Amino acid sequence: MLRKGIAAAPGIVIGRAVVKKEETIQYERRTVETTSAELDRFRDSVKAADRDLESIKEKARREMGEEEARIFEAHQLFLQDPEFVGAIEAKIESERINAEAALEEVRDSFVAIFESMDNEYMRERAADLRDVSQRLLKKLLGILDRLEADFSEPVILVVHDLTPSDTAQLDKEKVKGFVTNIGGRTSHSAIMARTMEIPAVVGMSDITEQLQTGDLIIVDGLEGEVHVRPDQAVIQAYEAKQQAYLQQKEEWARLVQEATVTADGHRVELAANIGNPHDAVQALKNGAEGIGLFRTEFLYMGRDQFPSEEEQFEAYKAVAETMGKDRPVIIRTLDIGGDKELSYLSLPKELNPFLGCRAIRLCLDRVDLFKTQLRALLRASAYGNVKIMYPMIATLSELRKANSILAEAKAELLSQNIPFHNELEVGIMIEVPAAAMIADQLAKEADFFSIGTNDLIQYAMAADRMNEQVSYLYDPYHPAILRLIHQVIKAAHQEGKWVGMCGEMAGEELAIPILLGLGLDEFSMSATSILRARHLLKKLDYASLKEVAQHVLSLESGEEIKAYIKETVLDTL
Ligand code: PEP
Ligand code: MG
Repeated sequence: MLRKGIAAAPGIVIGRAVVKKEETIQYERRTVETTSAELDRFRDSVKAADRDLESIKEKARREMGEEEARIFEAHQLFLQDPEFVGAIEAKIESERINAEAALEEVRDSFVAIFESMDNEYMRERAADLRDVSQRLLKKLLGILDRLEADFSEPVILVVHDLTPSDTAQLDKEKVKGFVTNIGGRTSHSAIMARTMEIPAVVGMSDITEQLQTGDLIIVDGLEGEVHVRPDQAVIQAYEAKQQAYLQQKEEWARLVQEATVTADGHRVELAANIGNPHDAVQALKNGAEGIGLFRTEFLYMGRDQFPSEEEQFEAYKAVAETMGKDRPVIIRTLDIGGDKELSYLSLPKELNPFLGCRAIRLCLDRVDLFKTQLRALLRASAYGNVKIMYPMIATLSELRKANSILAEAKAELLSQNIPFHNELEVGIMIEVPAAAMIADQLAKEADFFSIGTNDLIQYAMAADRMNEQVSYLYDPYHPAILRLIHQVIKAAHQEGKWVGMCGEMAGEELAIPILLGLGLDEFSMSATSILRARHLLKKLDYASLKEVAQHVLSLESGEEIKAYIKETVLDTL
């Protein structure tokens, strides 16, 4: 039987399932005689949960990186939060009830508040709060963590849901793949599975009901498919597919040290998008020739105050040093707002946050924050090939204002005798259609462009990038998008400036030949896509793709364009 889900992490694995159904934890709400004893019991469980989280956090930091470790730091913060913990304690005392009941009632009211907010970040906090409350509840009831059980042989885990803490605790040697009922491609556990390179398929609705522990299954994390109790012929076909994938990965791995040059000798650059200094190490291992986008907002998240200049300097310097003197490191200034919020920065509620005060708009309004970051960036430029990039630029005057604050930051450092690279390049993201339309003017004053298709598509098509119902409009291959990209590249080249792309589109197999043909100079993508892209680029012929790209610009729909590229380029390689 073949079941379809969402491909969360690539790879193929064949093995026995261990099925863990959704747990219902049973206890009764009861009144307690002595509230002080109940409070002690609750505080002990908080301490025990905190100890667990400390060790999970350290494991996550060692094996995955800073960003993943922060998730557990956020869980620990809930355990220290006087509003959350205090509300539970107050309930135990005032209502004289057991800690389990007080915990669940307080959790439900907090979760309801978080979930009612029209904001992805706050909804994720609700998931975190559920996760940490579940841990506390188990501590109170003396239940062992369900994944603490040791598997005697490697298995494929089939579960209702995997929380981030479950995922971080997985032993890669024992858990060869996982499948879940719920979750999406961008859920925390899916992101972690990709980092850990454990094949995974998520969002399979009732897979835990379809399977028994011991069933043989095949998880195809490339296609997002699960074969349940496959016959011998299917197993053989998948063994071959698995071999082919492993061989392909080996072949790609040989390209780690190679330059990215097309079959006819045209050089382009393959860079990585990162969110923290640890990602830079992974980027290098995956053959990145530079960092095309460092999303610095992650440094600002999962904490309760702004990072200081010193903290930021250390993070930026670490990336610059990891990448060495020559490899470019493009650091984007704070892109907060839209779906990315900071708990400690209270912003007025907006009807359309993606069209509101975000990114450079916010930074130009909060010059104090902006200058702190610019100083840190400038200081880091003394340690490597650092470039600065402003997000969401829509007008020339925004670019000029940002540059004048940068000039002030430089003057300050100069007067303080603090070293920095005075000639560092300063570029902008092209992700607002208005910027694409005035690219010729912007190109005179920016040192480079990086096209942010994730946003450019949603703004150009008037289709929210998170709204399923209009996802048919969110199409990177729509002729309007390709024409905008073409216009931006042409305008930059006319001024002798280079153009990159750091939106997800840059790593897509069908897009790469078009972008190359349009003259894109740098492709920046998630680290795990780099070698595959290099493998493809080395087989492509730049001269003939220039013509292909021109023809593409005359086609009438995304479907037509994709079919044309597949037939005339990819299928002929
Ligand atoms: C983009 O918009 O394409 C981009 C790279 O930025 P982000 O996804 O962080 O908005
Ligand atoms: Mg963007």
